[in-house]
Amino acid sequence: MSGNSGESTGGAGGGDGGGGVSGDRRSGRDGSGLGRPAASGAKLHIVRFAPAKLNLTLAVVGNRNDGYHALHSIFVRLSLGDALTVSTASIGASRDSLRVTGLTIPTVGDNLVLKAIAAARSAVVAAGTGLPELAPLLSARLSKRIPVAAGLGGGSSDAAAAIGAALAMWRVNLDAAALAGLAASLGSDVPFFLAPSVALITGRGEFVEPLPDIAGEPPAVLLVTPQLPLATAAVFKAYAQGSHQADEELALTVSERLAVEMRSGISSASLLAQAADLAAANDLRRAAFALAPGLRGFVTALEKVVERPVCQSGSGPTLWALYKTLAEARKAARFVRLAVVDGKLPLIGVGEPFIAATTIAGRLNPPVPQAMDELAGAIGPRAVHN
Ligand code: ATP
Repeated sequence: MSGNSGESTGGAGGGDGGGGVSGDRRSGRDGSGLGRPAASGAKLHIVRFAPAKLNLTLAVVGNRNDGYHALHSIFVRLSLGDALTVSTASIGASRDSLRVTGLTIPTVGDNLVLKAIAAARSAVVAAGTGLPELAPLLSARLSKRIPVAAGLGGGSSDAAAAIGAALAMWRVNLDAAALAGLAASLGSDVPFFLAPSVALITGRGEFVEPLPDIAGEPPAVLLVTPQLPLATAAVFKAYAQGSHQADEELALTVSERLAVEMRSGISSASLLAQAADLAAANDLRRAAFALAPGLRGFVTALEKVVERPVCQSGSGPTLWALYKTLAEARKAARFVRLAVVDGKLPLIGVGEPFIAATTIAGRLNPPVPQAMDELAGAIGPRAVHN
């Protein structure tokens, strides 16, 4: 979520204890919040949950000298997420390795999990925390459930989870400044995933102001992601070339007002009442429409099906709507699936959209792994690489 090349619009994490959930009951936690490695047979491993994020608002507030855009955006974590398992590499391995199952990630050779492990190792060595041999090679497995290049921050979340898992495997810590620098070096949205569940993000993503959780039962979210991946950098470029909202002040006005409300504690009901404002509070919406033919018509059709305003997360193309309960969001997901079958929703992109019902996660209701059968879309086995 930031500038031109390599920009991103949010992340999710589990990099540290906050929001990250060890899927392994045997994984303990030390005082730093980093899980300790657990023994699986003879092998040590640690499991981290890497939640998706949603941008409740996204205002572009200016250009920066480094080519990135400055943003004002409220991020929340979701209960939908990837699962990352990290263990020590097999004897004889010559490099860190990664195997991915679930959704396909096109750039397997460049996976942020491997980049994060490598960068964490360098940071550990640079910090004098240990010699290289104290940060041994790792083997990672990623169960990918967050749609890729969809504005849900999956790659950033995986990177944050990988940092946390690697440090825990090596039993080392970095100080807050080193950790923040490491996260920011991997992507603009990665720092968010090292923070609590709800935050105001400014700068290109490096300024993270934690906000209180939404009070009461957290709102549920319907996610609909057309299968037309949008590169964040391309969307910012379209924005820079003039694809702006009709009212250029609106997103910032809504975002600033929401930040004020959230600082003093906002209820689920109050957030739900602002659905129409939130739908208009994304400065990248028109840029996404400009790049993805059919997306505007899809949004209009979706709004008719769900009978409520539909918002865009980050640079898109993921669309979302809020519901009071998960049951209501699940019902809406069923309606949307039927609308796809009935042709009430136009098919755009390369296939049927990813459709899921989930919830906003908070400190008191941390993200929990979601059953695979709740997630629609093409999720088949994929083996990858190192
Ligand atoms: P953001 O909104 O943070 O820009 P996004 O949600 O739109 O991100 P991601 O799913 O994070 O998009 O993917 C962005 C790019 O990162 C894709 O081109 C993808 O190929 C690459 N990538 C590298 N590693 C990963 C990963 N572990 N998961 C997802 N994408 C990855």
